[in-house]
Amino acid sequence: MSDAVATQSSDEEVIAYELHGNCYLNITQRCTLRCDFCPKFNKTFEVQGYDLRLKHEPTVKQIIAAVGDVSRYQEIVFCGLGESTLRLEVMLAVAAQLKQRGAFIRLNTDGLASLVHGRDVTPALAGKVDALSISMNAQDEATYNRHCRPKKEYPGAYQAMLDFARQAKAFVPSVTLTAIDGLDGVDIEACRNIADELGVEFRRRELDVVG
Ligand code: SF4
Repeated sequence: MSDAVATQSSDEEVIAYELHGNCYLNITQRCTLRCDFCPKFNKTFEVQGYDLRLKHEPTVKQIIAAVGDVSRYQEIVFCGLGESTLRLEVMLAVAAQLKQRGAFIRLNTDGLASLVHGRDVTPALAGKVDALSISMNAQDEATYNRHCRPKKEYPGAYQAMLDFARQAKAFVPSVTLTAIDGLDGVDIEACRNIADELGVEFRRRELDVVG
């Protein structure tokens, strides 16, 4: 991307990267899911020309430094090749500091944070996250499990993700469920109907396009 600028730490890891006028934050490469369409499970950590492999998880201070001037961006988006909410306290601390500087904060997530942390974490997002983009990925549990392959220690992931979306509505101004068009067995219109029933937005995504 000719208009993209990566902000790298001293050992060349990409913590923040710029796309579409937004700043994307890559704060972990750990995940709860093992999606079959994910670049890292297809032997690459490269996304839109950025190598998102992390040798170390960055600190709050390093992430804030990597962002720099928030006024350069429309949105600051937690979205790397990992699940940011696995570092919930770090993610919230960064979001709070960037919000104080006037940033618009979006969290792209698998929606499994409450399942993983064993409590409803959606109240903690209030005042720190402006928009949530939650990967629904399928219209039913079987199709979700086939593509997203949740780890065995997290049964009921599909329903937990939908519950997370429903509960987050009270604390986050904009909640959107997403699904990827073109994945085998995924019915985009059925996914849209589920989002409608939950009273949240829906967005159809394209495979391998960050957003
Ligand atoms: S949640 Fe995202 S980063 Fe994690 S395995 Fe799935 S596609 Fe990859």
